[in-house]
Amino acid sequence: MKHYGAIEAGGTKFVCAVGTENGEIIDRLTIPTETPEETIGELTAFFSKYQLTSMGVGSFGPICVAKEKEEYGYITNTPKLAWKAYPFIPELEKRLGVPVSFTTDVNAAVLGEITKGAAQGLNSCLYITVGTGIGAGAIIGGELVQSATHPEMGHILIRRSPEDSFAGNCPYHSDCLEGMASGPALEKRWGKKGKDLAGETKVWELEADYLAQALMQYILILCPDKIIMGGGVMKQQQLFPLIRKKLSEYLNGYVDLPDLEDFIVPPGLGDDAGITGALVLALSAE
Ligand code: ADP
Ligand code: ZN
Repeated sequence: MKHYGAIEAGGTKFVCAVGTENGEIIDRLTIPTETPEETIGELTAFFSKYQLTSMGVGSFGPICVAKEKEEYGYITNTPKLAWKAYPFIPELEKRLGVPVSFTTDVNAAVLGEITKGAAQGLNSCLYITVGTGIGAGAIIGGELVQSATHPEMGHILIRRSPEDSFAGNCPYHSDCLEGMASGPALEKRWGKKGKDLAGETKVWELEADYLAQALMQYILILCPDKIIMGGGVMKQQQLFPLIRKKLSEYLNGYVDLPDLEDFIVPPGLGDDAGITGALVLALSAE
């Protein structure tokens, strides 16, 4: 039986998995993100137990996804300084001796969801994560949206609510979507962690407003058949109906959408969307 390796590389943890050609995961390991030397050392030890055919990686970033560039497979501009300009994929290929296919964490997640999750059978889908950061990956007409670079949909501008005086915490843009609606933004604005704000209606109405504005732009530009919303903040399930309501108010009947209950949904694979997609990538790297 052939074995394939998969990594979901995050800023706080790395999820590693070994799977079969059917996409079934047979072994996995989660390790905290340390320095590249430590983390790569640990995951090499894990994968070395198997004779891998190929590997797929969905990574935090920004990363270089352009195969023709010298920095292909590098993590480029992260605030995690030890990983900045780090030749992640070249290093993995060197240590493990297998071809590695590489994309962003959210691209891997949308690939996982369209192959085995809530968007199975569709041609177009958007996956957005609302967590420490905000990011989205899209497959449109069967293709991942990326070229010389990859989308950074978390940093779009949104219209500030007149009741909101929070300055925003994106180090690049202050009050972009990520600066206003990520988990750390919630915590900074309201003085408590997202999960401790569960019962506070005002918090989630404002959050849903900003996320609905973002979804409106994504829908108008990309026309996805489904939008999947994951990440820590979306564990607040009450956000889903609030987002659907705000979105229909913003769109105001201008575009025809399917029933919003089916259109905006949580990940069918739960927290495994990214690692499942990385395994799908591995199969394509063979
Ligand atoms: P990461 O983005 O680092 O991969 P997560 O998607 O879990 O990880 O996002 C972490 C962020 O989500 C933190 O800011 C955290 O406070 C917030 N978060 C995690 N769980 C919840 C929850 N149940 N409700 C609201 N916010 C949460
Ligand atoms: Zn920003």
